[in-house]
Amino acid sequence: MLVVMRKDATPEQIKGVVEAIEARGYKGHPIPGAQRTAIGITGNRGALEAPVFESLPGVLEVIPVSHAYKLVSREVKPEASVVEIGGVPVGGGGLVVTAGPCAVESLEQTLIVARAVKAAGAHLLRGGAFKPRTSPYSFQGLGEEGLRILAAAREETGLPVVTEAVDVEGVDLVERYADAIQIGARNMQNFSLLRRAGKAKKPVILKRGMSATLEEFLMSAEYILAEGNYAVVLCERGVRTFSDFSRNTLDLAIVPAVKNISHLPILVDPSHGTGRREKVAPLSRAAAAVGADGLMIEVHHDPNRALSDGPQSITPDMFETLMQDLRQIAPVIGRSL
Ligand code: PEP
Ligand code: MN
Repeated sequence: MLVVMRKDATPEQIKGVVEAIEARGYKGHPIPGAQRTAIGITGNRGALEAPVFESLPGVLEVIPVSHAYKLVSREVKPEASVVEIGGVPVGGGGLVVTAGPCAVESLEQTLIVARAVKAAGAHLLRGGAFKPRTSPYSFQGLGEEGLRILAAAREETGLPVVTEAVDVEGVDLVERYADAIQIGARNMQNFSLLRRAGKAKKPVILKRGMSATLEEFLMSAEYILAEGNYAVVLCERGVRTFSDFSRNTLDLAIVPAVKNISHLPILVDPSHGTGRREKVAPLSRAAAAVGADGLMIEVHHDPNRALSDGPQSITPDMFETLMQDLRQIAPVIGRSL
């Protein structure tokens, strides 16, 4: 259920409604919008009596929410959300490019890549310190040392840092060092991790699970918002299909589908989405054209020697060419880069 406040409702009236919700043992989520504030209610197990809330001062109407997800939906917040990552707005009409290595391998490697992507115009630096690997024998990441390296790269380049937390304990560390917490495809339905991320003070980039439906994807985001963290950015990274020419199938159609029903920004990751270096630039251009709010791209200065995801990592030169292309595409689709 959603309590929609009048346009001229005062902060005290909004507070009064939240208190009335919480007095019943539920949680109230005031979501300010351009036209009005809406207050989402979570924690209830059945239908709520609308008249109780309708009669409170400042309330315009009480509407039932038709989807299982509430806080992520456009019913709660009709206008698109802008999520700030280290001061960089994601979702505000710009095209935000996150680039960097799959894994942080060393200070030298991270600095080389960070400097190159910064020079080419990237807005955010990515790099995994905790790597969720299919094989237990593959490189698992440098852990806290990797986070320190990312912080040093931010210090030098000014690029805010995005990195993955693979478990609940890892969120404490990632939150301390990074500007955004990435939750990976393999953890999209790790509900305790989602809840912990919902209590974090940093924005979250939530990647789509490799066989997740649109509804499952949005429900996972809902877990984070329901805990009070509204700074969530979605990321499409390809799903498993029968296609045999690509690591995953990049589902670009989910971008307009998400935009239709959710106010959350969405990025596209054509690196994991294709698994092949030569497909990254064409799919990046397509993602921009289809309305994505940004891209997440793996870049490595020596991809053949990368400790993780070398075959899908593009070189700094390829990245620079791609950024030039995106600079030409952006104005055509009404975005800035
Ligand atoms: C990554 O971004 O390096 C990563 C592991 O991505 P995904 O969770 O989408 O596989
Ligand atoms: Mn990777």
